[in-house]
Amino acid sequence: MNKTDIKSMNMEELRAAVTEMGLPSFRAAQIYRWLHKTGAESFDEMTDLSLSLREKIGYNFVIFSSSIEKKLISEYNDTVKYLFRLHDGEFIESVLMKYSYGYTLCVSSQAGCRMGCSFCASALGGFSRNLAASEMLAQIYSAQRDMSIRVSHIVLMGMGEPLDNYENVTRFIELASSEEGLNIGMRNISLSTCGIVPKIYELMKTKPQFTLSVSLHAPNDVLRSEIMPVNKKWGVEELLRACREYAKVTSRRVSFEYAMIDSFNDTPENALELAGRLRGILCHINLIPLNEVREGEYKGSPRDRVDAFARVLSEKGFAVTVRRRLGADINASCGQLRRGNSAAVAGR
Ligand code: SF4
Repeated sequence: MNKTDIKSMNMEELRAAVTEMGLPSFRAAQIYRWLHKTGAESFDEMTDLSLSLREKIGYNFVIFSSSIEKKLISEYNDTVKYLFRLHDGEFIESVLMKYSYGYTLCVSSQAGCRMGCSFCASALGGFSRNLAASEMLAQIYSAQRDMSIRVSHIVLMGMGEPLDNYENVTRFIELASSEEGLNIGMRNISLSTCGIVPKIYELMKTKPQFTLSVSLHAPNDVLRSEIMPVNKKWGVEELLRACREYAKVTSRRVSFEYAMIDSFNDTPENALELAGRLRGILCHINLIPLNEVREGEYKGSPRDRVDAFARVLSEKGFAVTVRRRLGADINASCGQLRRGNSAAVAGR
């Protein structure tokens, strides 16, 4: 019998399921609290339910477990990188970052990624499968439990393309922000996409209040197609048209991510071209000194070039930040740890 993934259910669905089993509906709130407030990993932990009730629930439902396979702590800044092993043996990564305003967890949405960006280690490892909402939540619960902290911000910027796993990702956001669960405010959640244009239109219909972050990384099709295959399907102009519309419909600023790659996309001319493209879009630009991928041919731009690039954009009136480079000593770019581990596991 196929059991239902109980941690991916919202309160309404859980109530309906519990009622169908002939149980009073308050049991749903009790179970939901165990799953999402306490982060229970087995029905046995639900000690205020009788043994027979736990057995009955366990007969119909499953709590997918994951375990910490590896944990790296950065010695330079407060960054912890996790490699989790999922119930079916897949590996995924998450990065916990400490900021002045609290802890942010960078969450993976897929095991691997099929988008093939050439500067990214997740692409090198190939695509295995989508993650369920419960498996995204479990990354948060595990990190919280492991470090005895509370995660206050989520960025869907780990391994995988969130809009390529649309249903599960939007459900994950619903559950993570639910009052009965983690209760993380929508304004503290950001979803990063490489630019799956039809899904951006689908998303804007729901008027989400979280931040949409778009990995742009280049001001034109020639450069962008070279590093991001997705650009061959939806070019820069089409993508920016969707972003412009998204900002208008949601009244939320779109955040553009721009990885600064040495001698590739980092000249003042590139900055001017970018400024021209983004003119009139309610947005913020985040410059990211690239974390180098061991196998990749790309290097991060030197700091003075990043600063000069930022200056051009500021002078053109854009809100720009240069992201703090976290965890370079522990391979904090997504996919690097999984790749290392898959090789190790394959060689066992
Ligand atoms: S950068 Fe993001 S979308 Fe591109 S391959 Fe890596 S994980 Fe996938």
